[in-house]
Amino acid sequence: MKQKIHSVLKCLKCGREYNDHRLFCDDCKDALLRTEYAVKEFRTGKEKNIFRFKTWLPASEGHDTRIGPCVFPSEGFGRALGLKKLHIAFSGYWPERGALNITGTFKDHEAAPTMEYFREKGIHDIVLSSVGNTARAFGYACSKLNMNCCIIVPDKMLERLWLPCKPSASVKVIVLQDSCDYAAAIKLGEKIRAQFNVMTEGGARNVARRDGMGTTVLEFARLTADMPEHYVQAIGSGTGGIAAYEAAIRLRQDGRFGERLPCLHLVQNSPFTLIHEAWQSHSETLPKPASNSEEMQKVQTMYADVLANTTPPYALVGGVRDSLKATHGQTYAVTREDAVKAKSEFERKEGVSINEPSACACAGLKQAVAAKKIRPDQIVLLHITGGGYDRIHHDFKIHRLKPDRIIEGNPDFSSLRSYEQLFN
Ligand SMILES: *Cc1c(COP(=O)(O)O)cnc(C)c1O
Ligand SMILES: [Zn+2]
Repeated sequence: MKQKIHSVLKCLKCGREYNDHRLFCDDCKDALLRTEYAVKEFRTGKEKNIFRFKTWLPASEGHDTRIGPCVFPSEGFGRALGLKKLHIAFSGYWPERGALNITGTFKDHEAAPTMEYFREKGIHDIVLSSVGNTARAFGYACSKLNMNCCIIVPDKMLERLWLPCKPSASVKVIVLQDSCDYAAAIKLGEKIRAQFNVMTEGGARNVARRDGMGTTVLEFARLTADMPEHYVQAIGSGTGGIAAYEAAIRLRQDGRFGERLPCLHLVQNSPFTLIHEAWQSHSETLPKPASNSEEMQKVQTMYADVLANTTPPYALVGGVRDSLKATHGQTYAVTREDAVKAKSEFERKEGVSINEPSACACAGLKQAVAAKKIRPDQIVLLHITGGGYDRIHHDFKIHRLKPDRIIEGNPDFSSLRSYEQLFN
């Protein structure tokens, strides 16, 4: 019997379809690929985790996990803002609510389906560069699935690498010493990928990441049989915005969820606001990045430094700009003061701790309401992308990841005969 095709990847520029895992169309480097699922109808499975949405995840199977989206109506924060239909997607850890993202952020929604997808495609090694949240999420997923992952992290960020479980020996850490920033970590990751032919997780180009991130919108649809009118999220790359838009397109195709797409409200943390600047000035491309040292300085003054991203997928076909256009979206810049204030308001009203990016999202929502971009009776989904770290530390034994190799400057790997030798 012919095997049923679960999904294909389709280039958003030329329309060509692919059956293999890839990050690029052969012909169009300036376009994203998007998953086209065989099943057009919104179906949910019996799983109590993210794989309940597996008909719309590129991994056709699932694995045993408690990770998954969690959506509920707001209690106090909506009232305080005068919003009658505010829903919260809580993508951190809050067991009483059923939020069980064990590494504390929605990066768990990216890592679990990505590693499942890679496993199904026979890919067993990945390399990734991270300042923390992505590393924890992939470190956890790879520990659970016993898959190989090489995490590259600037030394200043090493303290953020902890797992709520014993790390598997298959998870390796390379630390970049001295003033090495995230950009340097990305460069080293690229070098290792190219030299040893190891897969990267792929960032915004990885469809498993995007479709995993989009499950908060699917969870909203599952619970309310509707789509939100507004989707609010703090962004660095903006991939979560693209993902929410893509999930909404699939729901619209189903036919039972109406024709309108949720309007994206994407929030950046000053002074790192490339997407906001480009969108507000109606520019087709991002502003020229400042020098490396200026960028570094900006990052150091940021409240939510995980939102710093110098190369967001803005101008790509199907990228952030196209997603904002298609949804009549808005962007915001919030300051540290805005975020700190919004954080304490949210925490007091909802009774849970949230992380810095989520605080930015709350501050952005306040701006949107004040500017009447969102009206009191409209349906809003506020994505709290991470929180509940205090509970994770209370409920689990925390294991710190230790460096397997410490690297200075621009390393030369030409003497290494195999990838494995990197860690010996
Ligand atoms: C990565 C991250 C973001 C930014 O997500 P993008 O959609 O990729 O810009 C926001 N919040 C948290 C907690 C994150 O870890
Ligand atoms: Zn193409």
